[in-house]
Amino acid sequence: MIIGVPKEIMRGEKRVAAIPETVKKMVESGATVLFEKGAGVGSHYWDEAYEEAGAQTIADVEELFSKAEVILKVKEPQFNHEKNKHELDMMHEGQYLITFIHPASPANHQMVKHMAERGIIGLTLDGVPRISRAQSMDALSSMSACAGYKGMIMGINDISKFAPFVTSAVGRLKPATVFVIGTGVAGLRALATAKGLGAMVYSADIRPEANSNAESLGAIIVDTGVPAEIAVSADGKHANQLPEKWLEIERDHLKETIAKADIVFCSALIQGKVAPVLLTEELVESMNPGSVIVDISIDQGGNCAITTPGAVETKHDVIIQGIKNIPGMLSTSSTIMFSKNIHNLLTYLTKDNEIALDLSDEIVASILVTKDSKIVHEGALEAMGLK
Ligand code: NAD
Repeated sequence: MIIGVPKEIMRGEKRVAAIPETVKKMVESGATVLFEKGAGVGSHYWDEAYEEAGAQTIADVEELFSKAEVILKVKEPQFNHEKNKHELDMMHEGQYLITFIHPASPANHQMVKHMAERGIIGLTLDGVPRISRAQSMDALSSMSACAGYKGMIMGINDISKFAPFVTSAVGRLKPATVFVIGTGVAGLRALATAKGLGAMVYSADIRPEANSNAESLGAIIVDTGVPAEIAVSADGKHANQLPEKWLEIERDHLKETIAKADIVFCSALIQGKVAPVLLTEELVESMNPGSVIVDISIDQGGNCAITTPGAVETKHDVIIQGIKNIPGMLSTSSTIMFSKNIHNLLTYLTKDNEIALDLSDEIVASILVTKDSKIVHEGALEAMGLK
């Protein structure tokens, strides 16, 4: 099996899909690894380390795309301005592509159609189900953990106060107050980070299980006012998307804690849906001058109604962070986690040094996007109105 790892070309993307450790494992298992020269630099891994691990480094990405049977990437295929060609147009029929494709997102529909037309077999990491046997392949969760940590550090950095309780010669200074809304993977990591820095941490989630996880990390739980039978799916595993009537009740329950918080960390989401709006402009106005909102759900529309996507802006004296691709700002750790996740998935899909897709397998069924020149991903077909 020939595996190709190109350099990421999305602006500002510093991650890469392999580290020398995973390259070594792929080579040991019989694969040939082609690695684009300089692709690891953004994560502080040099070509020499990849060569020592057994990769062949290649300067021309077109050569890499044409020789490889499997492409491992971080971001969905993009237009390569240097080559004046889309990455998909450098790929060929029957070639496997494993990356984050986000096929249901309207911004990617055209690209996914193009992928099918080119006969590429697209496998998306955002489709890996959150089940225990797939945990080691779950790059989405790894990246959420990175965003939770780094997002909280960014929030702490933007407040003009100490995070911990400080005793000084001029008296005591109170710790910062942090409110985390949505304590799934990212929210729990954010909460633990704030707690570790000595802040006073509050949290809210509509799932009782998420609240007990947050409580065990030392958070004070704020009641959302939404009963579990409304908030949680029948199988008890997932949160439900709330109708506006319940969101209004929730906002009413959260407003006191929002008003006194130095940092409101927004990480509430139902996977695959638009993020619920939990901070209206009026609630932002109620916050203290100099406080900070970190809205990491911004890719799904944001939990705050006035977050500007991709930017940090001050509105009503509140700093509102809508930074996207936070994991890319923690490139070494996120690259290590991502590379291990994608390598575990590749190993799972491989038999006798070849990818062999078992279409009856739950993991394969949920990650497969295009096959035999057709789009097969349920979510993408639904979002495109083709189902
Ligand atoms: P998750 O599913 O693990 O957690 C989301 C939590 O929100 C769940 O616990 C759910 O119960 C809760 N929730 C849903 N509706 C709610 C409501 N109305 N009120 C309170 N809680 C509610 O998701 P995750 O992996 O932790 O991701 C969280 C967010 O972080 C997502 O929007 C994700 O896209 C985003 N993220 C952003 C970046 C970035 O760079 N900006 C990177 C990674 C993840």
